[in-house]
Amino acid sequence: MNNSPTIAIIGGGFCGAATLIQLVRQSELPLNIILINKGNPVSKGLAYSSFNERHVLNVPAGKMSIFPEEPDHFVNWIRSKKEYHAFADDELPDTYLPRVIYGKYLEEVFTDTINNLPGHISVNLIDDEAVDVSLSDSGNYVILKEGAEISADKIVVAIGNFLPDNPNIRDNSFYKSKKYFQNPWSRNAVEGLKNNDSVLIIGTGLTMVDNVLSLIDSGFKGKIYSVSTNGYFPLSHKKRKPYTDILQELHPPYEISKLYSLFRKHIKIVLSKGITGEAVVDAVRPKTQEIWLSLSLDDKIRFMSHIRHLWGVARHRLPKNIFLQMQDLISKGRLEIIGGRLQEIKEISDHIYVVLKEKKSQQLRELIVSRVINCTGPKTDISRIDQPLLAALYKKGLIVPDEMKLGINALPNGTIIHGDNTLSSKLFTIGSLLKGILWESTAVPELRHQAKSLAGELLSQLHSNKNANA
Ligand SMILES: Cc1cc2nc3c(=O)[nH]c(=O)nc-3n(C[C@H](O)[C@H](O)[C@H](O)COP(=O)(O)OP(=O)(O)OC[C@H]3O[C@@H](n4cnc5c(N)ncnc54)[C@H](O)[C@@H]3O)c2cc1C
Repeated sequence: MNNSPTIAIIGGGFCGAATLIQLVRQSELPLNIILINKGNPVSKGLAYSSFNERHVLNVPAGKMSIFPEEPDHFVNWIRSKKEYHAFADDELPDTYLPRVIYGKYLEEVFTDTINNLPGHISVNLIDDEAVDVSLSDSGNYVILKEGAEISADKIVVAIGNFLPDNPNIRDNSFYKSKKYFQNPWSRNAVEGLKNNDSVLIIGTGLTMVDNVLSLIDSGFKGKIYSVSTNGYFPLSHKKRKPYTDILQELHPPYEISKLYSLFRKHIKIVLSKGITGEAVVDAVRPKTQEIWLSLSLDDKIRFMSHIRHLWGVARHRLPKNIFLQMQDLISKGRLEIIGGRLQEIKEISDHIYVVLKEKKSQQLRELIVSRVINCTGPKTDISRIDQPLLAALYKKGLIVPDEMKLGINALPNGTIIHGDNTLSSKLFTIGSLLKGILWESTAVPELRHQAKSLAGELLSQLHSNKNANA
């Protein structure tokens, strides 16, 4: 290794890869970049290495460029590929393409970057799990599972999403069962069922829909139950412009009760015009980070307890064709969406006995199923996540949960705030670990901006260190 500054990135999914690519694009100084990734494939990560071609993006192609500075990059890439000519019509920017295609795009952009590095930048890809980080005045190291220690000036934690939490039930011993699938993204969760089996999916969001699609594709003919406390089902994307009139009245200081009234007022107006309420959500979406950042803790808690699920339904929508397919399954009785709270899940001989309390009737309902798949969304409380790296960082006080326990305490630009409340000059994060700080820190439209500005921030810090040491 030469004497140039080194940035180590832990996690090589979308965020890690996009940060690396931005570093290469932006750095005028000599730089070593080390990308440490284990598990999901580099650049594709969990979301875009899907095993099912029918798992589609939930953001239209026109908003999925990896580069915020080149918004049409992905759409142009599709148009340049013979094999995707079927998609290359005027509708392409509004089309929800298969996630595997997006994975191929990321892979190609990443590989191109690595194969065409400018002479002053070196990249080293390491296939290993980071299990710890040590920071001191004499040096910073990422410690790998295989024992190596990687020295770096700056370290970026870009490790993506975690497995869902096990819902609280009377006796949690069921969660050790082989018939329980805590990982809803693995192929195993939907394979090996018999046609007359039935499945309980916990969760009624987009991951549930992916699992239903995969079950149906695998030829599964049995009944699928999907339960969540509210029983909300995702809405369908519609081709319409955001309803921007609300923005004229949307000004700081933001308070949740005023925001709620404003939403109600404008949703009433759009409904009276025959437009549905999602148009209001779409208009406000670019402002959600700004709003979240300025809300008081009490208001954030109020949002989480009363509005989060409604917001989620309006915000995380389904492409129309998939929405219609789900409605068809519901009307045929093959898929049942239930609003209710799970009370009990236990294995009895060769089946699973489930008791839930239905929301509407407040009555107990029993189900007999053959498998349970957890689609409740990634666990976020880092103090309870069973992952060696996070556990080690948390134990040392290098990271602490944010006040909402949705990720890591940090500045909006990804600078980690250590347990002793000091700002780190060495440890940074990006992506879903910033959810508590930014709320919207999930999808490509915001993650690509994060990657670009984090790369700029790291380079400017290295630059000023260099000038100070000169
Ligand atoms: C199923 C699914 C579908 C989605 N669909 C969309 C969509 O259509 N559009 C959209 O905009 N967003 C979508 N998202 C949101 C998605 O989270 C982001 O778009 C983006 O992929 C997140 O990238 P990431 O780098 O944070 O995480 P990931 O891509 O998961 O990358 C994290 C990487 O870090 C590795 N890793 C973890 N811990 C360690 C460690 N200790 N050492 C080394 N490596 C480690 C992991 O194996 C993984 O490769 C989806 C998310 C999921 C889960």
